[in-house]
Amino acid sequence: MRRFRCYLAAAMAAAMFMAQPAMAAEGTPVVVQPAYDSQSGGPGVAARPQEGAGEQQGTEPAGGGQASGDSIQEAVEGQASGDSIQEAVEGQASGSSSSTPVVVAGGDPVISGPAAKQAAEEEAARQAAEEAARQAAEEAARQAEEEAARQAAEEAARQAAEAEAARQAAQGRQVFTRQLDSSRPMVALTFDDGPNTSVGNQIMDCLAQYGGKATFFMVGSRVPTHAAEVQRMVAEGHEVANHTMNHKYLQKLDAAQIQAEVNQCNDTIQAVCGARPALLRLPGGNHNATVLANTHMPMIQWNIDTRDWKTRNADQTVEAVLGHVKNGDIVLMHELYSQTGEAALRIIPELVNRGYQLVTVSELAAARGRGLEAGKLYFSFP
Ligand code: ZN
Repeated sequence: MRRFRCYLAAAMAAAMFMAQPAMAAEGTPVVVQPAYDSQSGGPGVAARPQEGAGEQQGTEPAGGGQASGDSIQEAVEGQASGDSIQEAVEGQASGSSSSTPVVVAGGDPVISGPAAKQAAEEEAARQAAEEAARQAAEEAARQAEEEAARQAAEEAARQAAEAEAARQAAQGRQVFTRQLDSSRPMVALTFDDGPNTSVGNQIMDCLAQYGGKATFFMVGSRVPTHAAEVQRMVAEGHEVANHTMNHKYLQKLDAAQIQAEVNQCNDTIQAVCGARPALLRLPGGNHNATVLANTHMPMIQWNIDTRDWKTRNADQTVEAVLGHVKNGDIVLMHELYSQTGEAALRIIPELVNRGYQLVTVSELAAARGRGLEAGKLYFSFP
């Protein structure tokens, strides 16, 4: 509709433009009726078609004069219907200057003949052009409004996505906010090859009693069947960490297989407990250049090996820790064995008794001001 009206306005403007030079070329004003309006006291120039179409003609609009009296109205109508006038109009339109229109006027100025038609057309064209311009401006404003709204919506969506990403990142990375005393010694107890609910809960019960935290390097394939235990780890501030998906020795795998073992474990742990591991322990601690280049995670080794998986003896495991532990050590144990659980119940109280803070690996590294880099091996943080 708007488009059509624009066309109309343009067509009328074009017609007007074409008509003007024709009139001027003839050089003969069609009707000039000098008049004096006794009522208004102002000059009443009826029509000056040689002037610009947009100009105000006289002090009164042409229509006002015509409507002011019956006699005038009749005169106008008579002119409009008269043959001679019609001929005159046609003559004008065809470029002939042989006849001149006649105007009969009363007290008021009157526009008649081709001049009236011309003026009316010009006025109509002007109004149409104005209307088209107004509508175009409205349309532009509406489009600008829509564009602004669209941009605002996009911005809001972007901000929401950022906030969501930040929230997920916060969930994906455990945040350890507890106060640690850097002047006191620290040790990181680590438990591999779980989760294993019976032993894991035993260890966590004891740690809760003594205010300690540990790190659990878990095999991804075991995680879904011990989901509640893994969720407890996160809830109680322990560190959930990656021990690959299937506990294969990574130095025997190619790059893609190594990445799959690591990534699948991270994905599985995160799916179960919401926290994505930041640390990796290599099965057996085994590695080569391909392993180091393809895990894309910091790799945490150890400096105290209890060999609990081999001895399956609580006394020997206790001795392996308490007989050698020092500040900044990383202790390797395994969650699979009941003897390890028994050993932990004795190790944890004694370490606390000796003044150790039992911390996660990430806490220990942070307390030592050590950044953990992907592709690097870490053994302890003295
Ligand atoms: Zn292992």
